[in-house]
Amino acid sequence: MSKKDPASSSYYKEPVPHIAHDSPFASMMERFRFAAEILDLDEGVFKYLSSPEKVVMVSIPVNMDDGRIEVFDGYRVIHNSILGPSKGGIRYSDDVTIDEVKALAAWMTWKCAVVNVPFGGAKGGVRVNPKELSQAELERLTRRYTANMLDVFGPDRDIPAPDMNTNEQTMAWIMDTYSMKQKKTETAVVTGKPIILGGSKGRKEATGRGVVTSTLAALGKLRISPSNTSVVVQGFGNVGSVSASLMYEQGAKVLAISDISGGYYNADGIDIPEAIHYVQTHDNSLEGFSGAEKISNQDLLELECDVLIPAAKEDQINKENAPNIKAKIIAEGANGPVTANADKILEDNGIMVVPDILANAGGVTVSYFEWVQDRHGYFWTEERVNRRLNRMMRESFDNLFMVSEKYSITLRQAAYVYAIDRVATTLKLRGIYA
Ligand code: NAD
Repeated sequence: MSKKDPASSSYYKEPVPHIAHDSPFASMMERFRFAAEILDLDEGVFKYLSSPEKVVMVSIPVNMDDGRIEVFDGYRVIHNSILGPSKGGIRYSDDVTIDEVKALAAWMTWKCAVVNVPFGGAKGGVRVNPKELSQAELERLTRRYTANMLDVFGPDRDIPAPDMNTNEQTMAWIMDTYSMKQKKTETAVVTGKPIILGGSKGRKEATGRGVVTSTLAALGKLRISPSNTSVVVQGFGNVGSVSASLMYEQGAKVLAISDISGGYYNADGIDIPEAIHYVQTHDNSLEGFSGAEKISNQDLLELECDVLIPAAKEDQINKENAPNIKAKIIAEGANGPVTANADKILEDNGIMVVPDILANAGGVTVSYFEWVQDRHGYFWTEERVNRRLNRMMRESFDNLFMVSEKYSITLRQAAYVYAIDRVATTLKLRGIYA
Protein backbone atom coordinates (compact mmCIF):
# COMPACT_ATOMS: atom_id res chain seq x y z
CA MET A 1 0.00 0.00 0.00
CA SER A 2 1.47 3.35 -0.98
CA LYS A 3 2.19 5.98 1.66
CA LYS A 4 0.40 9.18 0.80
CA ASP A 5 0.68 12.72 2.08
CA PRO A 6 -2.88 13.52 3.17
CA ALA A 7 -2.16 17.24 2.92
CA SER A 8 -1.17 17.05 -0.73
CA SER A 9 -4.63 17.67 -2.13
CA SER A 10 -5.77 19.95 0.67
CA TYR A 11 -6.66 23.50 -0.25
CA TYR A 12 -8.92 24.44 2.57
CA LYS A 13 -7.91 24.87 6.16
CA GLU A 14 -10.04 26.09 8.96
CA PRO A 15 -8.24 29.15 10.23
CA VAL A 16 -6.04 28.53 13.22
CA PRO A 17 -4.30 31.20 15.26
CA HIS A 18 -0.68 31.69 15.92
CA ILE A 19 -0.10 30.60 19.48
CA ALA A 20 2.93 30.52 21.74
CA HIS A 21 4.14 26.95 21.68
CA ASP A 22 5.08 26.84 25.36
CA SER A 23 1.56 27.51 26.58
CA PRO A 24 -1.04 28.07 23.89
CA PHE A 25 -3.89 28.22 26.37
CA ALA A 26 -2.13 30.85 28.47
CA SER A 27 -1.48 33.05 25.44
CA MET A 28 -5.15 32.82 24.40
CA MET A 29 -6.13 33.75 27.97
CA GLU A 30 -3.89 36.83 27.87
CA ARG A 31 -5.89 38.31 24.99
CA PHE A 32 -9.12 37.23 26.61
CA ARG A 33 -8.17 38.96 29.86
CA PHE A 34 -7.35 42.21 28.04
CA ALA A 35 -10.78 42.27 26.40
CA ALA A 36 -12.52 41.26 29.63
CA GLU A 37 -10.94 44.22 31.43
CA ILE A 38 -12.05 46.69 28.77
CA LEU A 39 -15.58 45.31 28.96
CA ASP A 40 -15.50 45.18 32.74
CA LEU A 41 -16.72 41.62 32.33
CA ASP A 42 -18.51 40.06 35.26
CA GLU A 43 -16.18 37.76 37.26
CA GLY A 44 -18.56 34.80 36.90
CA VAL A 45 -18.86 35.24 33.13
CA PHE A 46 -15.08 35.45 32.94
CA LYS A 47 -14.80 32.13 34.76
CA TYR A 48 -17.50 30.60 32.56
CA LEU A 49 -15.72 31.59 29.34
CA SER A 50 -12.29 30.60 30.63
CA SER A 51 -13.05 26.90 30.69
CA PRO A 52 -14.15 24.70 27.82
CA GLU A 53 -17.67 23.31 27.97
CA LYS A 54 -16.61 19.78 27.09
CA VAL A 55 -13.32 17.95 26.65
CA VAL A 56 -13.49 14.50 25.06
CA MET A 57 -10.45 12.21 24.90
CA VAL A 58 -10.62 8.87 23.13
CA SER A 59 -8.35 6.00 22.22
CA ILE A 60 -8.52 5.08 18.56
CA PRO A 61 -7.53 1.49 17.77
CA VAL A 62 -6.62 0.92 14.14
CA ASN A 63 -5.87 -2.29 12.23
CA MET A 64 -2.65 -1.44 10.44
CA ASP A 65 -1.82 -2.82 6.99
CA ASP A 66 0.77 -5.23 8.43
CA GLY A 67 -1.77 -6.83 10.77
CA ARG A 68 -0.70 -4.99 13.96
CA ILE A 69 -3.18 -3.03 16.07
CA GLU A 70 -2.00 0.54 16.73
CA VAL A 71 -3.74 2.89 19.18
CA PHE A 72 -3.87 6.68 18.73
CA ASP A 73 -5.08 9.45 21.06
CA GLY A 74 -7.94 11.58 19.77
CA TYR A 75 -9.39 14.79 21.19
CA ARG A 76 -12.37 17.03 20.66
CA VAL A 77 -12.84 20.16 22.72
CA ILE A 78 -16.04 22.19 22.67
CA HIS A 79 -15.08 25.55 24.09
CA ASN A 80 -18.51 27.14 23.93
CA SER A 81 -21.82 26.54 22.18
CA ILE A 82 -23.89 29.44 23.47
CA LEU A 83 -24.05 31.04 19.99
CA GLY A 84 -24.98 27.78 18.25
CA PRO A 85 -23.52 24.39 17.32
CA SER A 86 -19.77 24.36 17.75
CA LYS A 87 -17.49 24.57 14.74
CA GLY A 88 -13.82 23.87 14.27
CA GLY A 89 -11.25 21.89 12.36
CA ILE A 90 -9.63 18.55 13.08
CA ARG A 91 -5.86 18.30 12.83
CA TYR A 92 -3.71 15.21 12.48
CA SER A 93 -0.27 15.80 13.91
CA ASP A 94 2.12 13.91 16.16
CA ASP A 95 2.62 16.93 18.40
CA VAL A 96 -1.06 17.76 19.05
CA THR A 97 -1.67 18.38 22.76
CA ILE A 98 -4.89 18.85 24.66
CA ASP A 99 -3.69 22.29 25.76
CA GLU A 100 -3.26 23.35 22.14
CA VAL A 101 -6.67 21.96 21.15
CA LYS A 102 -8.30 23.85 24.05
CA ALA A 103 -6.70 27.13 22.92
CA LEU A 104 -7.71 26.58 19.30
CA ALA A 105 -11.29 25.76 20.35
CA ALA A 106 -11.56 29.03 22.29
CA TRP A 107 -10.09 30.92 19.34
CA MET A 108 -12.87 29.47 17.14
CA THR A 109 -15.49 30.79 19.58
CA TRP A 110 -14.10 34.31 19.16
CA LYS A 111 -13.57 33.92 15.42
CA CYS A 112 -17.17 32.84 14.74
CA ALA A 113 -18.43 35.67 16.93
CA VAL A 114 -16.32 38.26 15.04
CA VAL A 115 -18.01 37.43 11.73
CA ASN A 116 -21.44 36.91 13.31
CA VAL A 117 -21.91 33.32 12.23
CA PRO A 118 -24.25 31.42 14.59
CA PHE A 119 -21.62 28.93 15.72
CA GLY A 120 -19.72 28.21 18.87
CA GLY A 121 -16.08 27.15 18.95
CA ALA A 122 -14.50 23.70 18.91
CA LYS A 123 -11.35 21.95 17.77
CA GLY A 124 -10.25 18.37 17.36
CA GLY A 125 -7.01 16.54 16.98
CA VAL A 126 -5.50 13.12 16.59
CA ARG A 127 -1.97 12.49 17.75
CA VAL A 128 -0.58 10.84 14.64
CA ASN A 129 2.01 11.49 11.97
CA PRO A 130 -0.23 11.04 8.91
CA LYS A 131 2.78 10.71 6.61
CA GLU A 132 3.55 7.37 8.27
CA LEU A 133 0.09 5.94 7.49
CA SER A 134 -1.21 4.56 4.21
CA GLN A 135 -4.42 5.98 2.76
CA ALA A 136 -6.32 2.87 3.93
CA GLU A 137 -4.95 3.24 7.48
CA LEU A 138 -5.91 6.92 7.48
CA GLU A 139 -9.42 6.00 6.40
CA ARG A 140 -9.78 3.45 9.22
CA LEU A 141 -8.35 5.94 11.72
CA THR A 142 -10.79 8.65 10.60
CA ARG A 143 -13.80 6.35 10.67
CA ARG A 144 -13.00 5.00 14.15
CA TYR A 145 -12.34 8.53 15.48
CA THR A 146 -15.74 9.53 14.07
CA ALA A 147 -17.43 6.46 15.58
CA ASN A 148 -15.95 7.38 18.97
CA MET A 149 -17.30 10.92 18.57
CA LEU A 150 -20.84 10.01 17.45
CA ASP A 151 -22.35 11.59 20.55
CA VAL A 152 -20.32 14.76 20.04
CA PHE A 153 -20.57 15.49 16.30
CA GLY A 154 -23.85 16.41 14.60
CA PRO A 155 -25.24 19.13 12.32
CA ASP A 156 -27.00 20.68 15.32
CA ARG A 157 -24.28 19.92 17.85
CA ASP A 158 -20.72 20.08 16.58
CA ILE A 159 -19.45 20.44 13.02
CA PRO A 160 -15.85 19.54 12.15
CA ALA A 161 -13.85 20.90 9.19
CA PRO A 162 -10.37 20.32 7.73
CA ASP A 163 -7.31 21.67 9.47
CA MET A 164 -3.63 20.76 9.49
CA ASN A 165 -3.07 17.48 7.55
CA THR A 166 -6.77 16.78 7.00
CA ASN A 167 -8.66 17.58 3.81
CA GLU A 168 -11.80 17.10 1.72
CA GLN A 169 -11.30 13.32 1.69
CA THR A 170 -11.10 13.22 5.50
CA MET A 171 -14.38 15.16 5.66
CA ALA A 172 -16.00 12.78 3.17
CA TRP A 173 -15.08 9.79 5.41
CA ILE A 174 -16.42 11.52 8.53
CA MET A 175 -19.64 12.43 6.73
CA ASP A 176 -20.08 8.87 5.46
CA THR A 177 -19.36 7.22 8.84
CA TYR A 178 -21.74 9.56 10.65
CA SER A 179 -24.42 9.07 7.96
CA MET A 180 -24.16 5.26 8.13
CA LYS A 181 -24.80 5.39 11.88
CA GLN A 182 -27.75 7.75 11.45
CA LYS A 183 -29.15 5.60 8.61
CA LYS A 184 -29.46 8.70 6.41
CA THR A 185 -27.12 11.04 4.58
CA GLU A 186 -26.17 13.95 6.82
CA THR A 187 -24.05 16.25 4.68
CA ALA A 188 -24.24 19.12 7.20
CA VAL A 189 -22.23 17.23 9.83
CA VAL A 190 -18.95 18.52 8.35
CA THR A 191 -17.86 21.40 6.13
CA GLY A 192 -14.97 21.53 3.70
CA LYS A 193 -16.43 18.63 1.71
CA PRO A 194 -15.93 18.07 -2.01
CA ILE A 195 -18.57 20.06 -3.96
CA ILE A 196 -20.09 16.82 -5.30
CA LEU A 197 -20.83 15.74 -1.69
CA GLY A 198 -22.46 19.03 -0.69
CA GLY A 199 -19.51 21.40 -0.51
CA SER A 200 -19.99 25.06 -1.40
CA LYS A 201 -19.01 26.91 -4.53
CA GLY A 202 -16.62 29.77 -3.89
CA ARG A 203 -15.13 28.15 -0.83
CA LYS A 204 -11.72 27.64 -2.37
CA GLU A 205 -11.30 31.37 -2.98
CA ALA A 206 -13.20 32.46 0.15
CA THR A 207 -10.23 33.27 2.37
CA GLY A 208 -8.46 35.44 -0.23
CA ARG A 209 -11.75 37.10 -1.13
CA GLY A 210 -12.35 37.94 2.52
CA VAL A 211 -8.83 39.36 2.82
CA VAL A 212 -9.56 41.68 -0.10
CA THR A 213 -13.01 42.73 1.15
CA SER A 214 -11.54 43.71 4.52
CA THR A 215 -8.60 45.44 2.79
CA LEU A 216 -11.00 47.49 0.65
CA ALA A 217 -12.96 48.44 3.76
CA ALA A 218 -9.72 49.55 5.46
CA LEU A 219 -8.70 51.56 2.36
CA GLY A 220 -12.10 53.24 2.48
CA LYS A 221 -11.42 54.41 6.04
CA LEU A 222 -8.12 55.93 4.88
CA ARG A 223 -9.88 57.42 1.84
CA ILE A 224 -7.59 55.67 -0.61
CA SER A 225 -9.18 54.50 -3.83
CA PRO A 226 -8.33 50.88 -4.80
CA SER A 227 -7.20 51.97 -8.26
CA ASN A 228 -4.61 54.27 -6.63
CA THR A 229 -3.30 51.56 -4.36
CA SER A 230 0.04 49.81 -4.39
CA VAL A 231 0.04 46.30 -2.97
CA VAL A 232 2.68 43.82 -1.84
CA VAL A 233 1.75 40.17 -1.23
CA GLN A 234 3.88 37.64 0.60
CA GLY A 235 3.03 34.03 -0.28
CA PHE A 236 1.48 32.98 -3.59
CA GLY A 237 -0.51 29.91 -2.55
CA ASN A 238 -4.27 29.77 -2.14
CA VAL A 239 -4.70 32.89 0.01
CA GLY A 240 -1.91 35.01 -1.52
CA SER A 241 -2.69 34.38 -5.18
CA VAL A 242 -6.45 34.96 -4.77
CA SER A 243 -5.77 38.17 -2.78
CA ALA A 244 -3.30 39.43 -5.41
CA SER A 245 -5.65 38.58 -8.22
CA LEU A 246 -8.69 40.32 -6.69
CA MET A 247 -6.66 43.45 -5.81
CA TYR A 248 -5.38 43.46 -9.42
CA GLU A 249 -8.98 43.26 -10.66
CA GLN A 250 -9.75 46.30 -8.50
CA GLY A 251 -7.14 48.24 -10.50
CA ALA A 252 -4.50 48.19 -7.77
CA LYS A 253 -0.84 48.01 -8.74
CA VAL A 254 0.69 44.84 -7.31
CA LEU A 255 4.32 45.84 -6.88
CA ALA A 256 5.62 42.55 -5.53
CA ILE A 257 4.67 38.94 -4.87
CA SER A 258 6.63 36.09 -3.37
CA ASP A 259 6.72 32.44 -2.51
CA ILE A 260 9.22 30.09 -0.97
CA SER A 261 11.50 30.65 -4.03
CA GLY A 262 11.86 34.39 -3.20
CA GLY A 263 10.34 37.80 -3.94
CA TYR A 264 9.46 39.26 -7.36
CA TYR A 265 9.28 43.04 -7.78
CA ASN A 266 8.16 45.28 -10.62
CA ALA A 267 7.79 49.02 -10.00
CA ASP A 268 5.27 49.23 -12.88
CA GLY A 269 3.12 46.48 -11.37
CA ILE A 270 3.10 42.74 -11.91
CA ASP A 271 0.72 41.15 -14.39
CA ILE A 272 -1.05 38.89 -11.86
CA PRO A 273 -3.02 36.73 -14.33
CA GLU A 274 0.32 36.03 -16.03
CA ALA A 275 1.95 35.15 -12.68
CA ILE A 276 -0.93 32.80 -11.82
CA HIS A 277 -0.64 31.14 -15.22
CA TYR A 278 3.11 30.84 -14.61
CA VAL A 279 2.76 28.98 -11.29
CA GLN A 280 0.04 26.76 -12.71
CA THR A 281 2.37 25.65 -15.46
CA HIS A 282 5.57 25.56 -13.34
CA ASP A 283 4.90 23.13 -10.53
CA ASN A 284 3.19 25.72 -8.33
CA SER A 285 6.34 27.83 -8.09
CA LEU A 286 7.28 31.37 -9.13
CA GLU A 287 10.90 30.26 -9.65
CA GLY A 288 12.06 31.70 -13.00
CA PHE A 289 9.13 34.14 -13.36
CA SER A 290 10.38 36.83 -15.73
CA GLY A 291 7.81 39.60 -15.31
CA ALA A 292 9.72 41.08 -12.37
CA GLU A 293 13.14 41.42 -10.76
CA LYS A 294 14.12 39.08 -7.95
CA ILE A 295 14.32 40.43 -4.39
CA SER A 296 14.52 38.76 -1.00
CA ASN A 297 11.43 37.99 1.06
CA GLN A 298 12.76 40.32 3.76
CA ASP A 299 13.18 43.24 1.33
CA LEU A 300 9.71 42.58 0.00
CA LEU A 301 8.13 43.10 3.40
CA GLU A 302 9.88 46.47 3.77
CA LEU A 303 8.82 47.90 0.40
CA GLU A 304 7.02 51.22 0.32
CA CYS A 305 3.37 50.44 -0.46
CA ASP A 306 -0.21 51.13 0.65
CA VAL A 307 -1.17 47.56 1.46
CA LEU A 308 0.96 44.65 2.63
CA ILE A 309 -0.72 41.24 2.63
CA PRO A 310 1.36 38.63 4.47
CA ALA A 311 -0.23 35.39 3.27
CA ALA A 312 2.52 32.82 3.79
CA LYS A 313 3.15 31.88 7.40
CA GLU A 314 3.43 33.08 11.00
CA ASP A 315 6.03 35.40 12.60
CA GLN A 316 7.01 37.25 9.41
CA ILE A 317 6.74 40.74 10.86
CA ASN A 318 8.52 40.80 14.18
CA LYS A 319 10.22 43.30 16.44
CA GLU A 320 13.35 43.30 14.22
CA ASN A 321 11.71 44.34 10.94
CA ALA A 322 8.55 46.04 12.23
CA PRO A 323 10.27 49.47 12.49
CA ASN A 324 11.10 49.21 8.74
CA ILE A 325 7.60 48.39 7.52
CA LYS A 326 6.33 51.22 5.30
CA ALA A 327 2.86 49.95 4.38
CA LYS A 328 -0.19 51.94 5.49
CA ILE A 329 -2.31 48.82 5.95
CA ILE A 330 -1.33 45.26 6.81
CA ALA A 331 -4.06 42.72 6.07
CA GLU A 332 -3.19 39.41 7.74
CA GLY A 333 -4.01 36.71 5.21
CA ALA A 334 -1.92 34.16 7.10
CA ASN A 335 -2.43 33.31 10.75
CA GLY A 336 -0.18 35.20 13.12
CA PRO A 337 2.14 36.83 10.53
CA VAL A 338 2.66 39.75 12.95
CA THR A 339 4.17 38.83 16.32
CA ALA A 340 2.75 40.29 19.55
CA ASN A 341 5.79 42.50 20.16
CA ALA A 342 5.65 43.89 16.59
CA ASP A 343 2.02 44.94 17.11
CA LYS A 344 2.96 47.82 19.39
CA ILE A 345 5.66 49.11 17.00
CA LEU A 346 3.23 49.09 14.07
CA GLU A 347 0.59 50.81 16.16
CA ASP A 348 3.06 53.55 17.19
CA ASN A 349 3.95 54.02 13.52
CA GLY A 350 0.30 54.51 12.62
CA ILE A 351 -0.01 51.34 10.55
CA MET A 352 -3.48 49.84 10.47
CA VAL A 353 -3.40 46.06 10.98
CA VAL A 354 -6.49 44.14 9.87
CA PRO A 355 -6.09 41.12 12.19
CA ASP A 356 -6.14 37.51 11.02
CA ILE A 357 -9.21 36.71 13.13
CA LEU A 358 -11.15 39.01 10.78
CA ALA A 359 -9.06 39.25 7.59
CA ASN A 360 -8.91 35.51 6.92
CA ALA A 361 -12.37 34.68 8.29
CA GLY A 362 -13.76 34.31 4.74
CA GLY A 363 -13.11 30.56 5.00
CA VAL A 364 -15.17 30.04 8.12
CA THR A 365 -17.92 32.29 6.73
CA VAL A 366 -18.28 30.16 3.61
CA SER A 367 -18.17 27.06 5.85
CA TYR A 368 -21.26 28.50 7.47
CA PHE A 369 -22.80 28.95 4.00
CA GLU A 370 -21.96 25.32 3.20
CA TRP A 371 -23.81 24.18 6.35
CA VAL A 372 -26.83 26.37 5.47
CA GLN A 373 -26.95 25.01 1.90
CA ASP A 374 -26.65 21.41 3.10
CA ARG A 375 -29.51 21.88 5.53
CA HIS A 376 -31.72 23.40 2.83
CA GLY A 377 -30.61 20.90 0.20
CA TYR A 378 -30.46 23.88 -2.13
CA PHE A 379 -27.16 25.12 -3.53
CA TRP A 380 -26.24 28.70 -4.34
CA THR A 381 -24.49 30.09 -7.36
CA GLU A 382 -20.93 31.24 -6.87
CA GLU A 383 -22.10 34.80 -7.44
CA ARG A 384 -24.53 34.52 -4.51
CA VAL A 385 -21.88 33.00 -2.24
CA ASN A 386 -19.45 35.82 -3.06
CA ARG A 387 -22.03 38.56 -2.64
CA ARG A 388 -23.08 37.29 0.78
CA LEU A 389 -19.47 36.74 1.83
CA ASN A 390 -18.56 40.30 0.86
CA ARG A 391 -21.49 41.67 2.79
CA MET A 392 -20.70 39.74 5.96
CA MET A 393 -16.98 40.59 5.84
CA ARG A 394 -17.68 44.28 5.31
CA GLU A 395 -20.21 44.40 8.14
CA SER A 396 -17.72 42.66 10.42
CA PHE A 397 -15.00 45.13 9.53
CA ASP A 398 -17.34 48.05 10.25
CA ASN A 399 -18.32 46.53 13.61
CA LEU A 400 -14.70 46.14 14.68
CA PHE A 401 -13.80 49.59 13.42
CA MET A 402 -16.58 51.08 15.55
CA VAL A 403 -15.36 49.21 18.65
CA SER A 404 -11.76 50.27 18.00
CA GLU A 405 -12.84 53.91 17.83
CA LYS A 406 -15.08 53.63 20.88
CA TYR A 407 -12.31 52.29 23.13
CA SER A 408 -9.32 53.77 21.23
CA ILE A 409 -7.81 50.33 20.69
CA THR A 410 -6.37 48.48 17.71
CA LEU A 411 -8.54 46.43 15.37
CA ARG A 412 -6.98 43.27 16.83
CA GLN A 413 -7.94 44.26 20.35
CA ALA A 414 -11.35 45.36 19.08
CA ALA A 415 -11.93 41.91 17.58
CA TYR A 416 -11.58 40.26 20.98
CA VAL A 417 -13.68 42.90 22.70
CA TYR A 418 -16.42 42.56 20.09
CA ALA A 419 -16.43 38.75 20.17
CA ILE A 420 -16.39 38.42 23.94
CA ASP A 421 -19.10 41.02 24.33
CA ARG A 422 -21.29 39.14 21.87
CA VAL A 423 -20.85 35.82 23.66
CA ALA A 424 -21.30 37.38 27.12
CA THR A 425 -24.45 39.27 26.07
CA THR A 426 -25.95 36.08 24.65
CA LEU A 427 -25.11 34.25 27.85
CA LYS A 428 -26.76 36.94 29.93
CA LEU A 429 -29.98 36.63 27.90
CA ARG A 430 -30.01 32.83 27.87
CA GLY A 431 -28.91 32.53 31.50
CA ILE A 432 -27.33 29.53 33.14
CA TYR A 433 -29.41 26.36 32.79
CA ALA A 434 -30.54 24.64 36.00
P1 NAD B 1 -0.50 27.55 0.65
O1 NAD B 1 0.31 26.39 1.07
O2 NAD B 1 -1.47 27.41 -0.48
O3 NAD B 1 0.48 28.79 0.26
C1 NAD B 1 1.52 29.22 1.06
C2 NAD B 1 2.42 30.11 0.19
O4 NAD B 1 3.41 30.72 1.02
C3 NAD B 1 3.18 29.36 -0.90
O5 NAD B 1 3.24 30.17 -2.05
C4 NAD B 1 4.58 29.20 -0.30
O6 NAD B 1 5.58 29.06 -1.29
C5 NAD B 1 4.69 30.52 0.41
N1 NAD B 1 5.71 30.56 1.46
C6 NAD B 1 5.99 29.63 2.39
N2 NAD B 1 7.01 30.05 3.16
C7 NAD B 1 7.35 31.27 2.70
C8 NAD B 1 8.32 32.23 3.08
N3 NAD B 1 9.15 31.99 4.09
N4 NAD B 1 8.36 33.38 2.38
C9 NAD B 1 7.53 33.63 1.36
N5 NAD B 1 6.61 32.77 0.96
C10 NAD B 1 6.52 31.60 1.61
O7 NAD B 1 -1.23 28.05 1.97
P2 NAD B 1 -2.55 28.95 2.08
O8 NAD B 1 -3.71 28.05 2.16
O9 NAD B 1 -2.51 30.03 1.05
O10 NAD B 1 -2.35 29.56 3.54
C11 NAD B 1 -1.45 30.61 3.79
C12 NAD B 1 -1.66 31.08 5.23
O11 NAD B 1 -3.00 31.47 5.42
C13 NAD B 1 -1.38 30.05 6.33
O12 NAD B 1 -0.91 30.75 7.46
C14 NAD B 1 -2.76 29.49 6.61
O13 NAD B 1 -2.87 28.94 7.93
C15 NAD B 1 -3.57 30.75 6.50
N6 NAD B 1 -4.99 30.51 6.23
C16 NAD B 1 -5.39 29.79 5.16
C17 NAD B 1 -6.74 29.61 4.93
C18 NAD B 1 -7.24 28.88 3.71
O14 NAD B 1 -8.45 28.85 3.54
N7 NAD B 1 -6.38 28.36 2.86
C19 NAD B 1 -7.67 30.13 5.83
C20 NAD B 1 -7.22 30.89 6.91
C21 NAD B 1 -5.88 31.06 7.09
